[in-house]
Amino acid sequence: MIKITLPDGSVKEFAQDVTPMDVAKSISEGFARNVISASFDGTTIETTTPLTTDGSLILYTWNDKEGKKAFWHSTSHVLAQALQEMYSGIKLTIGPAIENGFYYDVDFGDNKITDADFKAIEDKVLSIAREKHEFTMRSATKAEALEFYAKENNQYKTELITNLADGTITFCDHATFTDLCRGGHIPNTGIIKAMKIMSIAGAYWRGDEKNKQLTRVYGISFPKQKDLTEYLELLEEAKRRDHRKLGKELELFAFSQKVGQGLPLWLPKGAALRDRLEQFLKKAQKKGGYEQVVTPHIGQKELYVTSGHYAKYGADSFQPILTPNEGEEFLLKPMNCPHHCEIYNTKPWSYKDLPKRYAEFGTVYRYEQSGELHGLTRVRGFTQDDAHIFCTPDQLDSEFKKVIDLVLYVFSSLGFENFTAQISLRDKENRDKYIGSDENWEKAENAIINAAADKGLNTVVEYGEAAFYGPKLDFMVKDALGRQWQLGTIQVDYNLPERFDLTYKGSDNELHRPVMIHRAPFGSMERFIAILLEHTAGNFPLWLMPEQAIILSLSEKYENYAKKVLDLLENHEIRALIDNRNETIGKKIRDAEMQKTPFMLIVGEEEEKNGTISIRRHGQEGKGNVTITIEEFAAIVDEEIKKTLKVFTV
Ligand SMILES: [Zn+2]
Ligand SMILES: [Zn+2]
Repeated sequence: MIKITLPDGSVKEFAQDVTPMDVAKSISEGFARNVISASFDGTTIETTTPLTTDGSLILYTWNDKEGKKAFWHSTSHVLAQALQEMYSGIKLTIGPAIENGFYYDVDFGDNKITDADFKAIEDKVLSIAREKHEFTMRSATKAEALEFYAKENNQYKTELITNLADGTITFCDHATFTDLCRGGHIPNTGIIKAMKIMSIAGAYWRGDEKNKQLTRVYGISFPKQKDLTEYLELLEEAKRRDHRKLGKELELFAFSQKVGQGLPLWLPKGAALRDRLEQFLKKAQKKGGYEQVVTPHIGQKELYVTSGHYAKYGADSFQPILTPNEGEEFLLKPMNCPHHCEIYNTKPWSYKDLPKRYAEFGTVYRYEQSGELHGLTRVRGFTQDDAHIFCTPDQLDSEFKKVIDLVLYVFSSLGFENFTAQISLRDKENRDKYIGSDENWEKAENAIINAAADKGLNTVVEYGEAAFYGPKLDFMVKDALGRQWQLGTIQVDYNLPERFDLTYKGSDNELHRPVMIHRAPFGSMERFIAILLEHTAGNFPLWLMPEQAIILSLSEKYENYAKKVLDLLENHEIRALIDNRNETIGKKIRDAEMQKTPFMLIVGEEEEKNGTISIRRHGQEGKGNVTITIEEFAAIVDEEIKKTLKVFTV
């Protein structure tokens, strides 16, 4: 008998050679029908692999990331088979599962493949899948494996096998098809019910442009047709919400090739939006005891040598700026922390003065290859909503909780309700790769774990994911389309206080090292606004909208009344504009809808006579307008803002 430990901690005994699928059936037949993949002691195995020793078994369904991976990996085998049967003389290379689906890199030889061929390939894949082939793993010697691909004249697989050690090589068979593979398949091809080729692209063998260019065929597959339909709809919606498209339509930001790639230009509306976000956070930070500081955009190279950033990132950064005469070397600031350490160092501190919390909307510059740049999410210059907290080890616990409160406040004010907190701790086996004493690490790790539990966060713990200088907490947010983004990070740091020789005098009159916390609830203004744009499709919370209302006059005759309304709105601190163009009201409404202005206030003869406005809400055509007074409208706006934007309390 062997003992199998399941993820809930329960231990069950089974006869030796029990398979993961047998274990699944012992739990329930219904569950077993959904199991598509398994891992044993951390290694992916087949659901049919006999288990011979005690160990931990995890059974995966389509709902698990690992389950999807097995599903997509298995589909890539079927795609390879379909391509091989449809095109003669092609050479297969590699075909892994990726975040959404899978790809296969293929040398198509003399064959041509275009979008027009996708449908036939998909049909072929599904017809093979319907035959319910099982995947069977078998070991091969290096010589056998080389011989197999020598017959096919496949230099790519031959190269892969040459780099593998004899005794580690396995093949996977299904139907009439064989591929070099390490394993991890679904029980049979019959559960692949929907498959689509998403695109084809050029890809160099092994990613090296000196090598031959292959064709990368991207695909995705699902256990239900409905899942594929939903996925394609989601992709369409993501395209409509693309922040680069919305940023242009809403006139928030732009890029200029003259200014340079990856350097966003904030247009007036975008700058106002950004400023509002900054003011919002500054106000909360002030309540939280932060002090605002300002530091330059460049720093002496020596500063980053001291911080260790130069040794680690120097070669991949913007290169030093030289002065014409004095022979000085400066770097564009890649992070604000070293500057803040030097602010801390401007005077001696006692434990009674701590914590010090220095905050700065600090603009930093990091070199990214031009091919990596993407809208506002990957740029070369961006502003962090940065702050560094210098505290005693005993204050870590309460400081951490305070930072979590602030992050949660930011998320709730901006409509991010769905998130998990990832706690990144040390690798237990490898403690010597981290700096700082064991005692301090334990304090910091416990501080994070306790703070997260205390705040009722939904957490996942990742061992070995901590930075070498300290543990961290990352907030992973799901947006309205179900995509996950990392927003907001809190990191404990023992390294920089050491490198910058930061001290404070303790109650024992001795000098001690403070602990440093790096934190940024938004992360970067650029990336945050991009994610917020895609999450809300440009319908920001009312308090943040560039214009909360637009006054649409029925004709030029009502210009004076429109101006009067605008004045009254300004008294109520409502941001509004007047559209007094000589256009039809229909055109004015359409344009305001495009700009996603939350309230359209229509003014004409009736309104002027009664001192009212006719309001119409964005996206609610056909609902009819409501005629109310300015006071009533101001109360509506006020109430809606109060619903999302609460006052930050500590
Ligand atoms: Zn495989
Ligand atoms: Zn920092």
